[in-house]
Order: sequence, then structure tokens, then C-alpha cells
Amino acid sequence: AGAPAPPWLTDLNPEQRRAVETTDGPVLVLSGAGTGKTRVLTTRIAHILEQRLTQPWRVLAVTFTNRAAREMRERLGAMIGPVAESVWLGTFHALSLKILRRHADLVGLRDGFTILDADDQLRLLKQLMADANIDTKREPPKVLMGILQRWKDRGLTPDRVPADDVKTAAGRRARDLYGRYQARLLELNACDFGDLLLHTLGILQGHPDIAGQYQRRFDYILVDEYQDTNVAQYLWLRLLAAGHRNLCCVGDDDQSIYSWRGAEVGNILRFETDYPGAAVIRLERNYRSTSMILDAASGLIRHNSDRLGKDLKAAGAAAADPDAAPVKVRGLWDGEAEARWVVEEIEALGQGANGPNGGAGDGGAIAILVRASFQMRAFEERLMACGVPYQVVGGPRFYERLEVRDALAYLRLIAQPDDDLAFERIVNTPKRGLGEASLQTLQRCARDRGVSLLVAAADLADGDDLKPRARKALAGFVADLARWRERVPTLPPSELCATVLEESGYAAMWKADKSPDAPGRVENLEELVGAVAEFETLDAFLEHVALVMENEGKGATARVTLMTLHAAKGLEFDTVFLPGWEEDVFPHRRALEEGGQASLEEERRLAYVGLTRARRRAFISFAANRRIFNNWQASLPSRFVDELPDACVEKASDTGLYGAVTAGFAEEPGGWGTRHPRRTLTGAGAGAGNGAGNGSGRLAPGTGSWKARDRTGEGSDLAVGQRVFHQKFGYGRVLSNDGGKLAVDFEKAGRKTVVAGFVEAA
Ligand code: ATP
Ligand code: MG
Repeated sequence: AGAPAPPWLTDLNPEQRRAVETTDGPVLVLSGAGTGKTRVLTTRIAHILEQRLTQPWRVLAVTFTNRAAREMRERLGAMIGPVAESVWLGTFHALSLKILRRHADLVGLRDGFTILDADDQLRLLKQLMADANIDTKREPPKVLMGILQRWKDRGLTPDRVPADDVKTAAGRRARDLYGRYQARLLELNACDFGDLLLHTLGILQGHPDIAGQYQRRFDYILVDEYQDTNVAQYLWLRLLAAGHRNLCCVGDDDQSIYSWRGAEVGNILRFETDYPGAAVIRLERNYRSTSMILDAASGLIRHNSDRLGKDLKAAGAAAADPDAAPVKVRGLWDGEAEARWVVEEIEALGQGANGPNGGAGDGGAIAILVRASFQMRAFEERLMACGVPYQVVGGPRFYERLEVRDALAYLRLIAQPDDDLAFERIVNTPKRGLGEASLQTLQRCARDRGVSLLVAAADLADGDDLKPRARKALAGFVADLARWRERVPTLPPSELCATVLEESGYAAMWKADKSPDAPGRVENLEELVGAVAEFETLDAFLEHVALVMENEGKGATARVTLMTLHAAKGLEFDTVFLPGWEEDVFPHRRALEEGGQASLEEERRLAYVGLTRARRRAFISFAANRRIFNNWQASLPSRFVDELPDACVEKASDTGLYGAVTAGFAEEPGGWGTRHPRRTLTGAGAGAGNGAGNGSGRLAPGTGSWKARDRTGEGSDLAVGQRVFHQKFGYGRVLSNDGGKLAVDFEKAGRKTVVAGFVEAA
């Protein structure tokens, strides 16, 4: 008291400051992107500790990703120093794991239990389905796994699955499998990701004394990205905060993008009911983006009907920028052209900033945010070809690669001898001469005796149930594992990892492999050994892997970051590229086909999240042709492009002459020709006429948008049976014509859906 307030506090605006200083009782901060919610949370922790309201280990803060937790800890450290280290800060999963490790026995797990990843979960479920004679063709394991996980998201153990969910035979089968799946996990001394929460919840609900301990332990609880919590997480929070109710949640309903993973935006609405007297604070000033970007994002999200509704004003340094550029929207020929354009723009940004007054260094952080990971490949290749350093976050993840998973299975089995899934994965990898029959004998033996596969293997190696060759192979494998395990206490984990890869013959297997991808796999194994070196114990490493598998990649600082829109939540970049704004890509086809209005609105929120990541520049692009799973498809610009307010966008297209898909875009003279030789093939002269028939009714007709102009409807009167020519697919006959969207039976390419603008009568 008496000392002047620290700058991190006085830098806040009055509403933010109120959210920080209202430390007692429930607080909900509900506000739009970039208004400083995360900053408020971080500052609030600093304030609580600085005021000595409690000790750091009595503060519990939940972030949405491990990466966000890392960042928050760093900022906190910068404000208040090393005490930041002791705050309980992490994702729901990481924090649950911390609690679960202390009470594992209460849910039937033993010390050192393993956490299965998605792949192992699926393998386990498949085995159980096979045992129960369930046809995996009729009921795909992935779908069933989804059902099980949604139950877990709702905090439902098998015995609590509501009657409504098991009215059908399929529902009952799923519940029975769920029960068996959970039982089997316990046998394996393992749990899956959803269990981290579910088990912790079970402990807190079933043991009031323990719940009481934690309620007294955590004096302050804080939650970021509250709009994306699911029911299990909600119950978890409610239990932990039950005593003191010092719970502060921040969120934005417009950024709720995880309903497919069980998130319930209703948790926000329920907050005031559950915590009567809660302080509800709204922040309206956006400190992140230019007003151009903000207006574009606000204009877009206004098309959603299901929202609480709030307006944002640009207020930060970016807002004051008199040269704020409009959002650049660009149509391109195909995915490759799109990647070329994006990387050209990136290179131009770098040059601009490196000019004489290039104080901004290299033009700042850049992100390419995609709707689906398949979109990444084209950008990766182009960035690589141009030598632009980039990182992929949450893409084809390192720990999910085959060779890495195999190596991890060795380590898991060393750490956890009951891990049958790991055992199965590697018992004959590399080949040890164990045939199918021997492995079946092994499985049967383990099941009959109720022991792990490893124990069964040790027994069989001594008995005479197996042929000598198999017996010898098993004995060798069992002995290897025992030897490696002995070395765990003395050998640094990375050395152990290297030893195991060498002695098992696994590394040699890939070194001897002649296939083109083998060298890369060897490199990945080397990389893995390097990754293990960052950890002091094998267990710590395996735990880390389990957690990052579910979340994101490494936090390296390359200039360009490539990631999915979902992974970009909460982050910010100077420049953001948003490619693939096409119908069926974004909004995603699945959302359009299955989910109705609600899914479409979630896609729109995702677009809003994407745009609001940008501080200074945003680029949106779409391609007229797209190869999706090896099929070429003509595509239409996303309806979201149309929904952007004209005043804050600048549109251009390379493909104007190809058809009405992009009609209305200003054509860029000289921007094509040599680079797009295909252009001449379509017969540009005729193309404009034919192409005008896009006429797709679902693209917001009558909105007076730029796309509706120039539409003459010619293409849409191609009759069924008409012979047509398409530049890529050749000759074919029209099977149906749905307002300019044609189904054509091509003579060579087979049946395809194309836009009328891309074919000519032949
Ligand atoms: P999102 O909804 O995207 O998660 P958010 O509401 O969490 O956004 P922050 O990330 O906390 O917003 O803040 C956005 C940016 O604005 C950050 O760069 C932050 O440092 C800055 N900022 C927040 N509040 C202020 C302020 N009062 N003065 C200056 N800058 C601020
Ligand atoms: Mg945030």
C-alpha cells in the first residue's frame, strides 16, 4: 500500500482494470476478439500475487493449449519474476493429469499409468469390437470412438449414459463397448485423453474429502477461452470453485469453435445463473487490429443470428494507422497458383520492411491459417522452394509419424510393462520371426491367465508351447526389455533411447530400407533422441509426448507459421493469410451437409477467429480449381467472401476470364499469360460468355454483391445430354444441371461436378 501501481496495471483501460481488481467472487469477462481478455487474466494473477492475497501454488489458471500456458507463464514471469513458476497453470488436461497422478489408485490405476493417443485408442476399440463380433464396416470404429468421446466430454461414465442415448440397438452396443473399453484400459494401466478429466471428475465427485482439499487449496481460479469448455470441464471447474467462488472466466461467444468436440457455449450463459451476483464485465476496445480488419470481421460475424452481439471499436496502435490496408481478396486459378501468390506477397512484405526505414525488421510475424490440414502441403512446398523459413503447428505431427510411434512404443513398454498396445506394436518390429500363430498363442495365454502380454511372453519363452524359433525370439525380446529397464535409473533418457533404437535393430531396419522415405525416417529417429534429451526422466518425456500429441507442435520462431484456424485461437500476427475461401472447403463440406444452420454459423465464427488474428494485414484467397483427394473440382468462392463489407476489402482475380465464379472481380492486366499457359486453352473469348452462367443460387443472390453482377445465365442453360468440353477433363455429356452446377460424365475422367463456366458446348 502506498507504493505507486505497477505499469502493467496502469496500462489497462478502466474496464480491464476492474476485471483485474475485482478479485473476490465470480467474474465473467465476455468480450470480442483482441479486447485484452487474455491480458486481463495474466495481469489478474500478477495482481493477486503482488497484493499477497495468496501464494502462487494456490492459484489455478486454465488455458486452452500448452502453448498458451507457456506464453502466459512467460508474461507472468516478466511481470512478477520467478514466483510465476509455482502457479498451477496449464490446460484442463495437463492440470487434471497433475491431480490424477496423486490419486490414481482411487480410480483403479496404478503409479506410472500410460496415456494412450488417438491411434492406440482406436486399435484398442477395434480389438474389442472384434471380440464382440461387431461389424466394423457397418459401424466404423472411428464413429464409435467419437460417440464414446462425446460421452466423456459430457462427464458421463458408462453407468451414467442417459437413457435417451441408448434407445437404439446401436446406442446400447456403443454403451456396452464403452464399458468394456474403460475396463480394458484399467487392465492395461492406461487411460485416454478424455479420461484425464473424467477420472479427476470422478475423484472429486466421489470423494468429498479430497474435493474439499482442492477447494481449500486453490484460492483463485482463472479460465481463458471459456466459450470452448465442455460439460466435463464445466463440472470440474464448478467443483473446484465451490468453496470460495473466486472464479474468473473470460471468453467470447463469437469465437466458440469447438462444439464438435463437445464444447458448450451455453456454459457462458449459465455462468450468471450458477454464480448469482457474478460481476459481468464487457470490454469493447480492440487493441489488436486495424479498423479495416476489425470492420471486415464484424461485418462477417453479423451474418450469424445466434450470438449475444457486441460491437468492437479499434483502439490500439494499429487502429491509429492512417495507412491501414483493406483486406485483400484474391481469386486464383488453382491451389498451386494460390500458394505462389501467397508466398510472393510474403516475400514482398519482407522487402518492403527491409527498406531504408525498415524499422519493422522483417515485416513482422506472418501466419497462413487453413481450414483443413490438407491445404498445408501446397504452401509448405512453395515456402520450401523459395527458402522462406516456416513452421507447421499442429500439422502432420512429428510424434504421429510411424517410425516415431514405433520408437515411442519401445520406450512406453520399458516404462510400463503392462502396456500391451505398445507390446503388440513392436514385438515383431523389426521382424523377429514371430508368426501369426505364435502371436495368437501369446494373446490366448495372456488372456487365459489374466496377465500382460509381456508376462505371458516371458512364460512362453520358458515353456514348450511354441516352436523353438519363436521361443528363442520371444526370449530375446523379453531379455532385451529387462536389460533396458534395468538401465532406466542410471542412463540419461536420450542415451537410453539411442541404445534401444540400436540394440533392438529398429534403427538398422530403416537404414537398410531402400524405399524413398526411409532416410527421412532415420532422421526423425535421430530427431527423437534429440527431443528426449530435453527431459530428465523417461516418464517426464512420455508424459510430455502424451500432452503435446493432443495439442500443438513446437514453439519455434520461424517467420511464417502454418496452422489450422482451430489452432490459431488466442494468437495474433502482423499479417494473416486466409487461403481456400471456397464453398465446400470453407465453409467445410461436412458442415454444410450435416450440421445445418448451427454448423454454418460455427464455420463463420471460425472465419471471424481467422480474421481477428491479424494486427495489420489480412489476405483472403480462393482458387477456381481445387484438387481434393486426387480429384479436380471446379470451386465457387466462399459465401463468406460475399459477406465481407465492401468498404473494407479490395478484390482482384486472376481468373476473371474463366467464368462467373469470379465475375465482378477487377481483372489484373499482365498478371497472367506466361505463368498460366492453360488460360489460352479455355478460349478466353468464349469463356467469358459461358462462364457467366455460374448462377449458383446459394451464393447470396440479391445481396447486390459484386458476384451477382455480370451474370447472364448462359452457362446454366446447358441441357441435359448436351456434349461439352472441359479444359481439364476433356469431352463429356451433361447428366444434370443444377443452376449452373453440372454433373458431367466425362469420357476419360469419369463423373465429375463442374461449374457451367468451366465447360463449353461441344
Ligand atoms: P482473443 O479473443 O483473440 O483471445 P483477447 O481478448 O484475449 O483476444 P489479448 O490477446 O489479451 O486479447 O489482447 C490483444 C492485444 O491487445 C495484445 O497484443 C495485448 O497486449 C493488447 N492489449 C490489450 N489490452 C491493452 C491495453 N489496455 N493497452 C494496450 N494494448 C492492449
Ligand atoms: Mg485471448
